[in-house]
Amino acid sequence: MRKILMITLVLMAILVFPSFQSKFHGTQPAKAKYVFLLIGDGMGINQVYLANEYQKQIGGQELSILSLPHFGLMTTSTVDPGVITDSGAGGTAIACGEKTKSGVIGMDSSKTRNLVSVAEVMQNKKYPIGIITSVGINHATPASFFGHRAHRGMYDDLVKDMTASGFEYFAGGGVITNNKLNPDSARKVLINDIVTSGYTLVANQNQKALIKNAAKVFVCDTSVYGTSDALYNVMDPKKAQFTLSEMLQMGIDKLFNKNGFFFMLEGGKIDWSSHSNDAMAMIHEVIDFDNAIKVALDFYKKYPNETLIIITADHETGGLGWGYRETKYYNYSYKLAQQKLSVDALIDSLKTKDAQESKVFVKNYTGIELPEEVLSKGDYAYSAAFAVDAINKMAGIGWTTGSHTGTPVGVYAIGAGAEKFAKRIDNTDIKPFILQSLAK
Ligand SMILES: [Zn+2]
Repeated sequence: MRKILMITLVLMAILVFPSFQSKFHGTQPAKAKYVFLLIGDGMGINQVYLANEYQKQIGGQELSILSLPHFGLMTTSTVDPGVITDSGAGGTAIACGEKTKSGVIGMDSSKTRNLVSVAEVMQNKKYPIGIITSVGINHATPASFFGHRAHRGMYDDLVKDMTASGFEYFAGGGVITNNKLNPDSARKVLINDIVTSGYTLVANQNQKALIKNAAKVFVCDTSVYGTSDALYNVMDPKKAQFTLSEMLQMGIDKLFNKNGFFFMLEGGKIDWSSHSNDAMAMIHEVIDFDNAIKVALDFYKKYPNETLIIITADHETGGLGWGYRETKYYNYSYKLAQQKLSVDALIDSLKTKDAQESKVFVKNYTGIELPEEVLSKGDYAYSAAFAVDAINKMAGIGWTTGSHTGTPVGVYAIGAGAEKFAKRIDNTDIKPFILQSLAK
């Protein structure tokens, strides 16, 4: 009799109280503790799908980004109608949930009021924070999560914001300085400021062991100095000390705890190679970014009910299109593989070569025969760009601009709260949607 009474009571509770019902059946929406926000700078939908098509054509692995179950489309506009966003306003809208003017970092459009980033909100809730990028740590996208400056070019001041943030883990391709006269010694001063403010510098593989006992960490391959304060282009032979995925794995190992964490990771050179209209370099950067996505997905598999992964872009770069008038209905992405150096590395190599040497070099590294009228200009940057442009056209790929575009970008998500992102959203929605997904 008591058994029947118990069953009746439970059944009544299920019928009367819907919350009891969802708890009883375990269908209460899961809440996130571990949040990964991965931003492919300039990574429009075409950048993702073209990289995937290339992989298919050469018999490579399909991209993991396309395995995420939730997909949305995000607008990237600035506060000013008609103005296509830069990474300052784009990063700020994503990080802080408010639109601002192009070039502004973490401030409102009047440049008088500091905005609060999702990383800062989560830091107040005692989540440790990690900020990772393949370009300079004080570049616009990462800076949008810790910086508050009227202009993205205030690099030295953004280092002050970085150290003042107190975020536990930073990893980047370099530190950018405003000192153009003596950048090498100015960078040393900036690094020293970061170290004296309490960060342990990890500059190479041998120093990885320092991470374990460090209070706060700055992973930065100091050997990339004198280049562009960024990791080298993935497709080029020069390799930095750490890859983007290694920097994420090291960060996870450092920040992991039972209460959660937040990571923002940027693939910054997807944008740079798209600015150069260099499809082969761009595809290598997307694949490298996808390798970092795999690291986050491996973590998700261990903690599926407590992890949220969101992958998006701040804007599209280059106006990349599938299709070129001469290749009509065909795409031959596999032909890009004949390009063995990025356009940046080609330019670097051609600097010291005369016309005849350039002709041989370009033929060897791109398969393209430079015509006499190109060689006779004596312009090595033009020669390199000509060869890369020719390969892109052969592959059936078109670019409309060397700047950013206003095309909406994809949002790819998995985990606790991921379904919120699977619709038409705006860049200002990312911050509130993450906060609504949190366990605390
Ligand atoms: Zn850009």
